[in-house]
Amino acid sequence: MNDHCGLCGNKLTSMDTMLGENLLSDGNILCNKCLEKASNINQELLSDLHQFSIKDIQSLIQSGTVVQENTFEDDENLPLAVNSNQNVLSKDLYKKRLKEIKRELEGLKANLSMFTKGEIKELPHILGLDETILAITDAQFVKTTDAGILLVTPKRIISVSKVMFSLAKVHEYLNENIVEVSFVKNFLSPVIKIHTADKIAEFESFFNKDYAEDFYNFIGKIYNKEKPQTNSEEVKKFSSEEVFEQLEKLAQLRESGILTEEEFAEQKKKLLDKL
Ligand SMILES: [Zn+2]
Repeated sequence: MNDHCGLCGNKLTSMDTMLGENLLSDGNILCNKCLEKASNINQELLSDLHQFSIKDIQSLIQSGTVVQENTFEDDENLPLAVNSNQNVLSKDLYKKRLKEIKRELEGLKANLSMFTKGEIKELPHILGLDETILAITDAQFVKTTDAGILLVTPKRIISVSKVMFSLAKVHEYLNENIVEVSFVKNFLSPVIKIHTADKIAEFESFFNKDYAEDFYNFIGKIYNKEKPQTNSEEVKKFSSEEVFEQLEKLAQLRESGILTEEEFAEQKKKLLDKL
């Protein structure tokens, strides 16, 4: 087995081989840095790496142009990213959690694009050990080109966006901070909005708009609870004194011509219904 990067020749680290994913068709292995470099030129590499040989990668890097770095990260409207490495897991625990999470996603019949593999692999680091996924969709911050996922757990909504081998951008919205969620239908990419007291975070989903809407319907049930009735007039039982007082007023209004006979009758009936 090869323990040096086939491209740059550097010794492979445990980070490079942790998930055993950088194997090429000819048995060469890429270090993460080289894979990142190559995948910046051609994203397809990430899903079909084992179909390419080291020669393919070399010619790709020689001929390709590097995709422009995304500068959106500096946008000050974005909430602060949570450190995605908050759970430091042993290799075994990581694998166990990733397996559990993948099983959860299967159970949810999660319909995600292949570009979200990197985000899924981050989840063991992000989710608490007993934090389950209730629903998930492909979605990213509006105005970004990164792929990403949006998921809801019993305590929060989390967005994860990861460009290969750079730190994942993780944002969380705790249940207690979410005022409501809303949805803007759009033929191409509906927008899911998370409203907190001081900000609205907007996510769009290009991958599958129906699935995104299902996701929204799910979180809508959680976060858009019926507001308690503030207009208690309908609910409140009036005492008979109050009703008769109101009836007298109504009668005066009719006599002074402010209410017509019909309006009077209608109001009178409403009042009597409250008895
Ligand atoms: Zn390398």
